[in-house]
Amino acid sequence: MENSSPGKDISLEDIQSKFPLSAKKNNSHFSNFTISGVEFGHGKCPVFAGPNMVESEELIKNVALHVKKSGASFLRGGAFKPLTFPYRSEKYWESREDGIEWLAKAKDYAKIPVITEIMEERFISLIAEVADILQIGARNMQNYPLLTACAKTGKPIMIKRGFGCSLRDWLGAAEYVLLEGNQKVILCERGIVAPHTHRSTSRFLLDLQVVPAAQEVTHLPIVTDPSHACFWRPWVPSLAKASVAIGANGLMLEVHPDPSNAAVDPLQAIDFSEFEILMNQLKCIGKICEIEVGN
Ligand code: PEP
Ligand code: MN
Repeated sequence: MENSSPGKDISLEDIQSKFPLSAKKNNSHFSNFTISGVEFGHGKCPVFAGPNMVESEELIKNVALHVKKSGASFLRGGAFKPLTFPYRSEKYWESREDGIEWLAKAKDYAKIPVITEIMEERFISLIAEVADILQIGARNMQNYPLLTACAKTGKPIMIKRGFGCSLRDWLGAAEYVLLEGNQKVILCERGIVAPHTHRSTSRFLLDLQVVPAAQEVTHLPIVTDPSHACFWRPWVPSLAKASVAIGANGLMLEVHPDPSNAAVDPLQAIDFSEFEILMNQLKCIGKICEIEVGN
């Protein structure tokens, strides 16, 4: 740990005054908490799985059943989506309020807790009624009024790392939530910008190195999302296995019954059988590393 504060990396002064609540108090300090019956913390790796977007009631119920059967701890799926372009069409849309209703039905039908993204304060009560965890997307990691408003609901919050943000920035965002007295905060690494990502369709690079780096300074669980990082289905299983091996405290994976026809991000989701095989492999890696994977 450096004593000076270079701005990008973390200094001792940062730990004492910038993020006293997210910083570890000693080497063995790790947050352990339960969300809807699922344990988070050291030695645990809950799995969040589901489609990029909640496309229909039928689809989300089907995915909920399948991922639960293969060992997922949470169903993921976006209804309010941070789509890069403002135009909407039959091929490029969001399910919004309908999607939240379908998620609620799938949760009840498959008896699995859910995580979904929240982008605007005005939808907090609608989403908080259904979601077990509120997801702050990468693009909103530094939307501090949104973080504070979500924190005040008392709901668990997962903060995705902005793709250009440092660990220091990320812990600053977590501190906004912790400052409201909300202790159930999860960090999610979802890929960062890098000069080389090895395929023209791969927009980001999964920063595996941030897992041990974060665990060195914070007690909060660190989840990875290989799907959003690499954008490429064939690479997702390898990056997921590497995430468990490196000690990630959770995994988010995009799973769709027919990936190439997914409404959003069709290149990155894996299908049901790939997910089932992967979960079995992840559990084997977890056993060697003394990490409990999935539900
Ligand atoms: C998502 O999880 O659906 C999502 C949009 O992720 P990110 O904020 O990491 O891009
Ligand atoms: Mn996405």
